[in-house]
Amino acid sequence: MTELRVNPTTCRGNGVCAQIAPELISLDKWGYPILGSLDSSNPRNVTLADDADVNAARKAATRCPQLALTVTDD
Ligand code: SF4
Repeated sequence: MTELRVNPTTCRGNGVCAQIAPELISLDKWGYPILGSLDSSNPRNVTLADDADVNAARKAATRCPQLALTVTDD
């Protein structure tokens, strides 16, 4: 299972990730990321369904200026 996770301690809420991967990431009213669906019970991670999701997640993680996003394989 491959997941995208955000580290809320290092995230600065600038919203770059949501511009890069809007299909995976939304922003709350303060500009911090919500991963997955808006009603997710855990907005700090999302399971990536396919290669397109993995590619988008990796692109967002690479471009996050705080390096607050990680793609993990469990
Ligand atoms: S790009 Fe990085 S620092 Fe900016 S909101 Fe997304 S996770 Fe947080």
